[in-house]
Amino acid sequence: MTSTPGLAAYPSEVREEVERVRALVCDLHAELPRWGLVVWTAGNVSQRVRVPGGEDLLVIKPSGVTYDDLTPESMVVCDLEGNLVDGSRAPSSDTAAHAYVYQHMPQVGGVVHTHSTYATAWAARGEEVPCVLTMMADEFGGPIPIGPFALIGDDSIGRGIVETLRDSRSRAVLMRNHGPFTIGRDAKDAVKAAVMVEEVARTVHISRQLGEPLPIAQSDIDSLYARYQNVYGQGDSAPVNP
Ligand SMILES: [Zn+2]
Repeated sequence: MTSTPGLAAYPSEVREEVERVRALVCDLHAELPRWGLVVWTAGNVSQRVRVPGGEDLLVIKPSGVTYDDLTPESMVVCDLEGNLVDGSRAPSSDTAAHAYVYQHMPQVGGVVHTHSTYATAWAARGEEVPCVLTMMADEFGGPIPIGPFALIGDDSIGRGIVETLRDSRSRAVLMRNHGPFTIGRDAKDAVKAAVMVEEVARTVHISRQLGEPLPIAQSDIDSLYARYQNVYGQGDSAPVNP
């Protein structure tokens, strides 16, 4: 494809990586409807493109395009201020939030946002999902925290995500009255967290209908998390947050 002058200013290795990430991020968007996490054009996946010696870029979904119409070429490239670098369409309206996370959490390589039903139902009530499942301890190392209420339009969503996840082992935050944002080493890892947060939100909700879920002792949560992050999967699930 032809590049605008914006991307042409970058070295060829970066441009090649952008093309690879465009295809990857396009493919990963198909996972969101596949796992029942999105309706219509809601939801978005992004991945960081590291630029040696310069400011990183991100690749994200264009705004308002239906999932069936997404192509690698239609994916939008922005800098970490959220400015358009390459693409024929406007970037997702959540780009500023993704960009803020990449700017302030250098270890994060992928970000996902959905309004998946059960996770968003907890967000609407402003209640964290308590860690009452071993898979939650494995994947998130504790409860799924609630982030502040924030309106779209400035960096307040991004700031709320970063401030909440900085003090948490969780790779997911439920922004109050809004929905989940997840982070990962790369976009695929963040998509996995988006699938898992919906699954645990659904299971704990159902458990609540039956009575009060039993807590897991903090020492057991700690050892489950340590084992899963360090042993299971030969280290490829190493934690993305400190
Ligand atoms: Zn949203």
